[in-house]
Amino acid sequence: METNFSKEQLKDQDNKSAEKILRKCVHCGFCNATCPTYKLLGDELDGPRGRIYLIKDMLENKKPASEKIVKHIDRCLSCYSCMSTCPSGVNYMHLIDHGRNHIEKTYKRPFGERFIRDFLSTVLPNPTYFKIISFLTLIAKPFQFIFPRKIREMIALMPIRFPKKTLPKMNIYSPAKRKKPVARVALLAGCVQRVISPQINEATIRLLNRHGIEVVVPKGVVCCGSLDHHLGKSDLAKEKFKKNISIWHEEYLKNGLDAIISNTSGCGTTLKDYGFIFRSDNDFKKKAKKISELTKDITEYLDENVKLIFINNKENKKTYKIAYHSACSMQHGQKIHKVPIDLIKKTGNEVYDIPDGHLCCGSAGTYNLLQSDIAKKLLKDKVINIEKLDPQFIATGNIGCITQISNGTKIPILHTVELIDWYTGGPKPEVLRKL
Ligand code: SF4
Ligand code: SF4
Repeated sequence: METNFSKEQLKDQDNKSAEKILRKCVHCGFCNATCPTYKLLGDELDGPRGRIYLIKDMLENKKPASEKIVKHIDRCLSCYSCMSTCPSGVNYMHLIDHGRNHIEKTYKRPFGERFIRDFLSTVLPNPTYFKIISFLTLIAKPFQFIFPRKIREMIALMPIRFPKKTLPKMNIYSPAKRKKPVARVALLAGCVQRVISPQINEATIRLLNRHGIEVVVPKGVVCCGSLDHHLGKSDLAKEKFKKNISIWHEEYLKNGLDAIISNTSGCGTTLKDYGFIFRSDNDFKKKAKKISELTKDITEYLDENVKLIFINNKENKKTYKIAYHSACSMQHGQKIHKVPIDLIKKTGNEVYDIPDGHLCCGSAGTYNLLQSDIAKKLLKDKVINIEKLDPQFIATGNIGCITQISNGTKIPILHTVELIDWYTGGPKPEVLRKL
């Protein structure tokens, strides 16, 4: 694609990257074929190629974002299905991130939208605020009919129960009965996930400890910053990125780290992008690159580094039929698809890919809250495809998908790591207790 940035504009690193990306696009439109919003809405501007043109026009012509552009960019899930399909290697992820930052800087959203976006950006990354709001929404549930539709939909998505933690809060979890751990990793403990599904981190820690790996959860690490990043709030996101990078890097230098483990693929995708985000920041670029290199999804780490010891007991003797839901951030963002399926197969169960599995379930960070109509349609299609397989349960690697899909079906859903933990000597996951 021909571009028309001026020399002056190209002094800006983000414009320079955008130009490189745009030049790779040959406007073939293959990406539209796998874009969930194009499939649903049928509008060229709701597909990747159309959005690429909108962003190009905004950036090249130094235009403030218009209502029309914002509508179509906001409808993008950042699922990156288009990147998996594109034959030219167009990095749509970096382009849309830049487009969203431009929107945030040049467009004043209506008050209601601004309020909701600011609210989400304040509450979701902070576990204490999230807990308080969750309890308040529990109280408000019986009276939710008095609230506007948007608020009612948010209330409906809030958790109704908070599982108890079974592991004490510590900064270092050491393997038992071993003098020297075989490896040392940091775990990204997350924000919302640790409140609504603490069992995911617990299964990760138990599983790693059982295989001789020390797990550290360094003090001071905050939300990975994905949420602000995808809302276009780049300054807030960078504050979080820098804080985490500094803490992990110090831990790496002082005590050594073999990996940084993410068990939420949405967050892992962002961590793996820290190196790019800080590519022109002289203070952070080396550290950020190191953190991205160290980041591994839990399934990726297990596959590459751990000889799993599976244990058969009377609890897990039965063979289950499992549908594997490949989160977009996992399959398109991190290009990890086969690894979790192969790991699950090692448990002796039957694993099936969901038909049209490349399409998003509608979760996509805060998308199901901000674009609820589209998200509901995507969820409906996802559930139809899952139910076609008639599985006994669903496994996936992202808390957002777990929350979204469990709102559409009664089929139990759990994190892949909970399953692997169970089959290597951990407790039977609570969602499977009735099976
Ligand atoms: S598939 Fe790739 S090259 Fe073709 S239009 Fe889409 S982004 Fe451009
Ligand atoms: S990221 Fe997903 S929703 Fe956005 S343009 Fe690409 S395929 Fe479509």
